Amino acid sequence: MEQQEKMVKLAVNGGISFGSKLNAKQLVVIAEYMLEEDELELTTFQQLYFEVLESDLEFVQKKFEAVGLSCYPVGNFVKSLRTCNFCKGAEQEGMPVAIELNHRIAGKAVPVTLRPAYTGCPIGCGEPLVNDIGVMKMKNGYNLYVGGKAKGLDAQAGTIVMEQVQPVQLYEAVDKIIATYAEHGKKRENFFKFVNRYGVENLKSQLTDNPFE
Ligand code: SF4
Repeated sequence: MEQQEKMVKLAVNGGISFGSKLNAKQLVVIAEYMLEEDELELTTFQQLYFEVLESDLEFVQKKFEAVGLSCYPVGNFVKSLRTCNFCKGAEQEGMPVAIELNHRIAGKAVPVTLRPAYTGCPIGCGEPLVNDIGVMKMKNGYNLYVGGKAKGLDAQAGTIVMEQVQPVQLYEAVDKIIATYAEHGKKRENFFKFVNRYGVENLKSQLTDNPFE
């Protein structure tokens, strides 16, 4: 019997910009790699899921990236950063910080898919307080939240663990939180449960320059 080649799922989006948009060229390139009966799945996390032959993965990723698409693995990894639309301007709302943060963390292996979110002002269009890790720009600094949960009867807002920090501190803190979860999280333990078990105070103690100490 002929063995069918394995398909792998790829998450694709237009990268971090003013809103979650795709241009016509990007859509055409995506369509080139689809058969008529194929489907694209639009997720709630500003990503399109696309299936590709495993042997074509590298080639397709290069083609996609050449037209400005960003590609991420699907599964137990940190998802690409969900963001707001930066309606007040890229610099004012910290778009370069969101881009760098996404670059550092998206695709890292974790026990269960981790959803990080960023928002450029306290209006919070990127919903950082109800995602696993949330960043909110407030005036000239960044607040960091952990353990938010949007779904289920136990939905809750995240807890603030750093307040008014600068980008380098923010990157280091998020890196540490993810590394701690990757190391100490149990198999199939989602981040919300991990934060409850491990403890917010314990997590805070891992962070350098902790303003709460
Ligand atoms: S969070 Fe603030 S900056 Fe971002 S889209 Fe909403 S109102 Fe605009």
